[in-house]
Parts: sequence; C-alpha cells; structure tokens
Amino acid sequence: MKKDNTDKISILFVLNKNFAHKAEYYRRKYQRARNQDIRENHYKKYRLYNDLCQRCRELFSSLVYPKKFGWGRHFWEFDAKEYIEKQAKYKQAKKDKFETAYRIHLHFFQNSFSADYGTYNCDRCKRQFHHSPSDVYLGSKKKFSHCCGHCVNTLLERNGQETIFN
Ligand SMILES: [Zn+2]
Repeated sequence: MKKDNTDKISILFVLNKNFAHKAEYYRRKYQRARNQDIRENHYKKYRLYNDLCQRCRELFSSLVYPKKFGWGRHFWEFDAKEYIEKQAKYKQAKKDKFETAYRIHLHFFQNSFSADYGTYNCDRCKRQFHHSPSDVYLGSKKKFSHCCGHCVNTLLERNGQETIFN
C-alpha cells in the first residue's frame, strides 16, 4: 500500500504557520528600526523565516503533486483537517465511480459485429455469435466471460456508458 502523507502534511501546515508568523514579526521590526545594524539584523531574520516558509510550500507541493492536486491557488488556504477530509471524499468518489462502471475486455481486440473469430455462446443471452467475445467487469467483479457484442452494448447503454460494438 502507498504510504500516507497526511501526518507530514499536518506538520507542514503547523510549521508554515509558525514561520509565516515570525517572518511577519521581523518584517515589521525591520521596517520600524531606525538603527542600520538593528535593521539589517531584523531583515536577515525576516529573510530566514521567509525562506523557511518557501521551503514548506515546496515540500508540501512535492508531497501532494503525485496525487494531482487540482484546487489551484486555493490549496494553501485549506487547513490540514479540511485537506484530509477532502482527500478522503475524493478517494471515495473515485472508488464509487469505479465500482459502478462496466469495463469490457475484448478477447480479440476487435469491436466489429462483422468480425469472425469462430463460434461462441453468449454467457448472458445464450445466443450464438462469431465476433469477439468479451469479459465484462462491473467494478472489480467479473460478471460475464463470453459476452456477445449486443449484450455488451446493452449493458453499457443502460449504465449510461458509451457502447463499443458496431
Ligand atoms: Zn449476449
């Protein structure tokens, strides 16, 4: 199983918040300082914390990038909890979609009714046919293993999917 990064992401959110807070603190200090040395000192600290923030963002991107994070600029506004909930919902939706869709595996990679690969009996309608038989999966479950093209099209159509035999 793929390792979950949610712990790391939670830590990054906290770190980034602290660094951003400190960066802002020193930014104000250096803007207000009258003495040049003190001013430079505050500025260096500001830069340090600002760089740390930047580093947090890079780490965050590298953690979420493989998951094709698609919320654009909004993602940084989410806190860790919201992020984790959103991820879980997204995974569930993807799983639901997979489990309710038919997947067709053609035995001969040819989706024409006029092809002739011998004589087969359909698992579903029991009729004889000559085109490529198909394995039919609903999600991860195999439903039929020698399905005719008419049945394949009917199943796909009733499920709101595009037909493949013609
Ligand atoms: Zn059939």
